[in-house]
This record gives sequence, C-alpha cells and structure tokens, in this order.
Amino acid sequence: VPVVPVGQLAPVLLRPGFGDRIVVEVRAQDGAAPRAATLEHLRQVLRDASGKEIVLDGVRRLGGEGRAWTSATIVEAAAAASAAPTSQVTLRLLFLRGSFEDDTGVLGVAVRGDVAAVFSDQVTAAAGLLVAPAVIEDAVTIHELGHLLGLVDLVLRAGRADPAHPGHSPNRRSVMYWQVESGAITQLLGGGIPTELDAADRAELTAIRAG
Ligand SMILES: [Zn+2]
Repeated sequence: VPVVPVGQLAPVLLRPGFGDRIVVEVRAQDGAAPRAATLEHLRQVLRDASGKEIVLDGVRRLGGEGRAWTSATIVEAAAAASAAPTSQVTLRLLFLRGSFEDDTGVLGVAVRGDVAAVFSDQVTAAAGLLVAPAVIEDAVTIHELGHLLGLVDLVLRAGRADPAHPGHSPNRRSVMYWQVESGAITQLLGGGIPTELDAADRAELTAIRAG
C-alpha cells in the first residue's frame, strides 16, 4: 500500500469511480472499544459524504497493552490487524489504550491517509464530571474521520482553515475545530461540544466529491 498523507485519500473515498463501497476496519484494545452510537454516527457521516455503501468490519480485538504510541506504531498495528485486500478502499480506525507520544493532551490523531486512532483513556480523562465520555468519543471519532476525508483544506487548499491550526475549522461549533482532538475539548462546553460537521465542512466535502 503506498503511503498516502492524511487527507489525500479523500478523492478516492468520495468520488464515484473508485468502487461503490468503503470498508472501515474498526479495531480496539481491551477496555477501549467504541460505543455503538459512535460507530453508527461514523457510518452516517461517511455515507452522507460519499454516497457509497459503508461496511463496518469490527469492532475486532487488538492485542497488546496501553503504551506511548507513535505514528509508526499505529500504522504497524493497523496493518497487523487488517483483513482487507489492498485493492479495497479501506479506512482503518483504532481505539487504543495509552497515549500519543506520551502526550495525554492528544485525544485522537490521523497518521496516514487511511489510518486514524482514538485514545480511549484520554477521552475518559478529558470527560471528567461535566461531560459524558460518549460525547467526547463521538466528537473525536468524527473529527479524525473528517481529516481522512480531507478536512479542513487538506485537499482543496482554498485558504479556509484556521491559520493558527492548519487542517482545522475556524468555527468552534464545527467538529473540525482544533480543540476537539485535544484535552482542552471541555473548554468548548459552553454551547456544547461540537459533534457534527458544519455547513462549510459539508460544502468542502461536496466540492472534493465533485472533483
Ligand atoms: Zn484535528
């Protein structure tokens, strides 16, 4: 599989002519499995964006302990747990124990065009008393999916992204706002944690899909 930078698989995912379905391999370590509602939301967002059939493969179990993950070890884990033939349009979403590079402020990360991870321990820790972990898990999962779909401005380069936080929406009501994947997510509590793409995000996906 060629190494595709984050967001650069979006045209293949979204445009017709690259198959009529997308497989999402969902893998989770013990104690890190995502909620069913999170996966249903993921399926819905991906289906709305692509118009394609979405096939969720998993949740299947991923072995090993929580650790300080890196982009390289996440990609290795995704490959080792993959069931897909390389010809298939496949996304790989891992729910992991531990942290990213020992940074407990990272809730999720997209590391390659087809690979993203959510750090379930950090999601739980960020939730605290004020917000349900289910809401944060949902928000972070959709945020990372958004990056794999080319948001924000990873493909079109139209100058729409937050200049201080490339790849992110300037709108704090968008799930693509930068703080959504950080431990500072609860600073967004006033007005609610965003879990949905905003109109500008959806328009960007439509533009990518149109080619
Ligand atoms: Zn992000």
